[in-house]
Amino acid sequence: MRGSGFLSLHGVDKRFPLKEGELHVLDDISLDIRQGEFVSIVGGSGCGKSTLLRLLVGLEEASGGSLRLDGASIRGTDPARGIVFQDHRLYPWLTVEDNVLLALANSPLDKAERLARVHAHLELVGLKHFARAWPAQLSGGMSQRVAIARGLVNRPKVLLLDEPFGALDALTRAQLQDELARIWQTEGITTVLVTHDVDEAVLLGDRVVVMEPRPGRIRRIVPVDLPHPRHREHPRLAELRS
Ligand code: ADP
Ligand code: MG
Repeated sequence: MRGSGFLSLHGVDKRFPLKEGELHVLDDISLDIRQGEFVSIVGGSGCGKSTLLRLLVGLEEASGGSLRLDGASIRGTDPARGIVFQDHRLYPWLTVEDNVLLALANSPLDKAERLARVHAHLELVGLKHFARAWPAQLSGGMSQRVAIARGLVNRPKVLLLDEPFGALDALTRAQLQDELARIWQTEGITTVLVTHDVDEAVLLGDRVVVMEPRPGRIRRIVPVDLPHPRHREHPRLAELRS
């Protein structure tokens, strides 16, 4: 049913004005995402994935159509929508703790509650001992972990990720994919992941939205109905635990 999702896009259109004419980037994007669902959006470079995510974040306004989260129109940025970009965008002059704390700038929590919230989220991403570290002391993977903690610290209704592991080496990427799956399971958070990596899209998504370019359209939506890797127990796990 159209328009019935927790996160719901209906007939979304995006055009950028050019010196002459306009660039039609997104055409008639409709998508309903259930609460707690993990949706991957996959497609080649330039097919409008980041633009679509920026519309969901509220950094960009649609030229047509509607975007709604939990019944309300998406307008402007909002702590109810957590975001992680490919580059971690940490402030180098702030500690890890202060970088995450900054995301709570408009929170109604008092100082002690904010700090407790920050530390709980650093623990969630495995960095509880790095609160006082500086971004320059962190590896690429650790920096992205901080970015994920920052994206979640407001307890958003949806987590939006734009190629979050695109700049990492293969091993670190695999570790972070694992961790994101674990976080998604513990937090039960509605998640939209944009990636050009089909394997990653299928590994993590409940559904995979495949986009095509010029203008960006949904080519198809593929449910991942295989037993999900993250739900599957490695045969040796039981043995290792006993
Ligand atoms: P993807 O993330 O799938 O690689 P993007 O959403 O970044 O694709 O870009 C889609 C198209 O929109 C590209 O042709 C890009 O140049 C264009 N584009 C993105 N942002 C702007 C903008 N602010 N102004 C003009 N064109 C833009
Ligand atoms: Mg992009």
